Amino acid sequence: MTAQRIDGNALSQKLRADVTHRTAALKSKGVTPGLAVVLVGENPASQVYVRNKVKACQDSGLYSVLEKYPENMTEEALLARINGLNNDASIHGILVQLPLPVQIDAQKVIEAISPAKDVDGFHIASAGALMTGMPGFWPCTPFGCMKMLESIGYDLKGKHAVVIGRSNIVGKPMAMMLLQQNATVTICHSATKNLKDITRQADVIVAAVGKRNVLTAEMVKPGAVVLDVGMNRNDEGKLCGDVDFAGVEQIASYITPVPGGVGPMTITMLLVNTLEAAERTVI
Ligand code: NAP
Repeated sequence: MTAQRIDGNALSQKLRADVTHRTAALKSKGVTPGLAVVLVGENPASQVYVRNKVKACQDSGLYSVLEKYPENMTEEALLARINGLNNDASIHGILVQLPLPVQIDAQKVIEAISPAKDVDGFHIASAGALMTGMPGFWPCTPFGCMKMLESIGYDLKGKHAVVIGRSNIVGKPMAMMLLQQNATVTICHSATKNLKDITRQADVIVAAVGKRNVLTAEMVKPGAVVLDVGMNRNDEGKLCGDVDFAGVEQIASYITPVPGGVGPMTITMLLVNTLEAAERTVI
């Protein structure tokens, strides 16, 4: 069996068309969804990420502003700026690009963002809302994974989902979202013993580790659905995921490629969250 690919670019295009449509409807009511992207320092990867986020907003008709600050910005100054954005009615979503320079406590900055504008879903209030099934913003990457499962009509009820990785931004929220859809969820991490024995039992595997070939063909049950969140470089310097794609593709029923899988979905869900933040102001 060769797995069907879940195409993150194609799904993103579809979802972004809906964002564009809903944005136009909101604009006709006098509200333009606005996202502020805050970048501190000169991290080259971060510069690319923020540019892509701002461009994606503009392409879908949202307002987006990129605020760049020097590497030596103080925590106090950044907190003051977040406060300003919290009180700016033209801004519905605030995204502070991570990592931040060492003198700034990233968690403190995230907690300073109003939960109503926390479109990254990293605020403790957003995490609590996800944990308790209350309305809030879901972190974009796992949210994108859920949309990918939805796009193939996958019913998670009673299925065994294994998440490899337990970060606050991917692994843990991913597990909560799968649980909310009635999957039986196992979370694996660096101290997990016999990873293969666990993944072999999975109907759905989400790999969110950041290491190449963490998931290989012999670790996958025939017909499983495999979502690859990882972003790594192979020996030729090309982007690759955590999954041995060539091998696992022969075993799984569905698989997400890297690039062109989960990556584009992350930005798309940022647009969705920003739009929803704006829509909530007029309801
Ligand atoms: P992270 O904070 O470094 O977390 C990695 C997790 O993997 C940790 O929980 C760690 O366990 C676990 N782990 C490490 N080695 C392992 C092993 N050998 N077996 C099982 N688990 C292991 O990373 P992250 O922020 O969640 O990101 C994970 C990957 O996704 C990275 O490649 C990142 O670049 C990528 N990513 C992609 C997107 C996207 O848009 N496509 C978005 C976000 C992240 P411990 O907790 O025990 O240390």
